[in-house]
Amino acid sequence: MQDRQLYAQILGISDPWFVDRVELKLEQGEVHIYLGHEEAALWKCPECGRECGLYDHQRERSWRHLDTCQYKTIVHAEPPRTNCAEHGPRVVKLPWAEAASRFTMLFERLAIEWLKASSQKGVAKILGLSWDEIHGVMDRAVERGLARREAEPVGHLGIDEKSFRKGHRYFTIVNDLERSRVLYVAEERKETSLDTFWPMLTEQQRTGIQAVVMDMWDPYVASVRKHIPEADRKIVFDKFHIAGHLGEAVDKVRRKEKKLLAAEGDLRLVGTKYDWLRNPGNFTRAEWRDFKALRESNLRTARAWALKESAMAMFDYHYEGAARRHFRWWYGWATRSRLQPVIEVARMLKERLQNVLTYLKHRITNATSESLNSKIQWLKYTARGFRNKENFKTAIYFHCGGLDLYPRAEPESTVT
Ligand SMILES: [Zn+2]
Repeated sequence: MQDRQLYAQILGISDPWFVDRVELKLEQGEVHIYLGHEEAALWKCPECGRECGLYDHQRERSWRHLDTCQYKTIVHAEPPRTNCAEHGPRVVKLPWAEAASRFTMLFERLAIEWLKASSQKGVAKILGLSWDEIHGVMDRAVERGLARREAEPVGHLGIDEKSFRKGHRYFTIVNDLERSRVLYVAEERKETSLDTFWPMLTEQQRTGIQAVVMDMWDPYVASVRKHIPEADRKIVFDKFHIAGHLGEAVDKVRRKEKKLLAAEGDLRLVGTKYDWLRNPGNFTRAEWRDFKALRESNLRTARAWALKESAMAMFDYHYEGAARRHFRWWYGWATRSRLQPVIEVARMLKERLQNVLTYLKHRITNATSESLNSKIQWLKYTARGFRNKENFKTAIYFHCGGLDLYPRAEPESTVT
């Protein structure tokens, strides 16, 4: 009797459910708990909540529970079916487990807790679960979380592309920059990848969007224009992506020049790659001094670098008119520089200047959610164990979706 009460407490069950018997299988290291219920119990129809009598029972099922005293603990019961006048026989909601799960809610909670902190492979090992079982826990958690999401305003969005498996596959990720969470993940980086996102928002959410930051990527631009009113005032090209394009141009100039110089025995550019790409704000004073001779030299690389830095100064302006004048002056310098890679970026920026300058009004970048980026980076790193793209998507929602993932007990039925 004592045992049965103890296990009822451990399981957190109450009327009309009780522990019928407990079987200890010592050799297997398992405890089996068999549940029963009061004969006269009334059950809620899972469709309408109406209280009805018992119709019959399903075949016995079992659920893995938290280990008790280091014993693997398994709960058994025959799920009752109600007999609702309107809906007919239906399996009732069980207070210890969700319908589709082979685990009790407490066990799922524990698994979710672990999954938040370590890799899927590690959790599978710790809890003695198969891959499919781990994926099942994650899938159900994400499904639950997405269903519970509310239509909060999403004023600032970040659209980012992530490559998976060394650039062979792309994902489009939509971030809510204010709440620092991933709202949406889609395969590829096409217009249609993003098109499927907008219908998930309410009309109010869509019209409430103030700005969307993204790379200079036409398919995304097209999708935003199609779905967001006054999109041209709201699209912001990410300044760090722009810095990336300029950095690549500098690097192209450097690589070519390094070869030419090395052929003449001049090794000044050897081993300097990252000095040219680094943000000047990240140099120590001593490093900046050491870099002085190079950056002030008459090398083509130094000129490309100066052009990059000067272009980025555009983002420090407060007024659009002033930034526009700065760009006009810079563009003249860039196009006369005879540095082909820089000229190409200059033309790209000129063509898209309107949505480069929207930064001055909205002040958002895709680095606004640095914590999200580093989490996704961690996921990619542990993704070697991911069996498919679907699972990677689930993992992003699980770790970065800001979702309420845990199962919750359903209201219990009553005894007459
Ligand atoms: Zn019903």
